[in-house]
Amino acid sequence: MYYPDLGPDCQIAVGPAVRAIGWLERGKPFAVGPVDRQFVARLKQHVTDAGKWLPVIAMGPHFCDLGACDGNGGTSNVIVPAETCVYVAPELILHYVETHQYEPPHEFIAAVLACPEQSSDAYVAKLLPFASTWHLDEVGVRRIAARAPEHRKAAAEATAQAEAAKGHFKW
Ligand SMILES: [Zn+2]
Repeated sequence: MYYPDLGPDCQIAVGPAVRAIGWLERGKPFAVGPVDRQFVARLKQHVTDAGKWLPVIAMGPHFCDLGACDGNGGTSNVIVPAETCVYVAPELILHYVETHQYEPPHEFIAAVLACPEQSSDAYVAKLLPFASTWHLDEVGVRRIAARAPEHRKAAAEATAQAEAAKGHFKW
């Protein structure tokens, strides 16, 4: 599922304000280099947030095919609004950065560092100018953001149950 970095389309978004990021594929060149730890930490927060803002249900898993790893997979995406555009990346971007030394474009790094918490009021305010990308109006954008607490709660409960199950097996 390859899309060039900073191109106006990717699997879950197409439009003049869209900037695809991290849709990597074996055999296609991508930038490699050291990235700021703070950026990686912030990126991880966004990617792993169960309450992240997403306009569509997962469209099927992508698997890393860059090699030299265990072929990590991911079904989700992450959306990072900025001043004049909105970045859209697969959740695998975190794996690409951590394992394959992928160095995303600097404008994306800056946008991640400046991005408010997923689905927060500040996040929604930054995202609203791009709502039409997903054929949404303000109500639609806010409706998705409003589900964040229940998604986070469900994820926390699932984690707690998995931990409890582990404890049970040890016992
Ligand atoms: Zn990999």
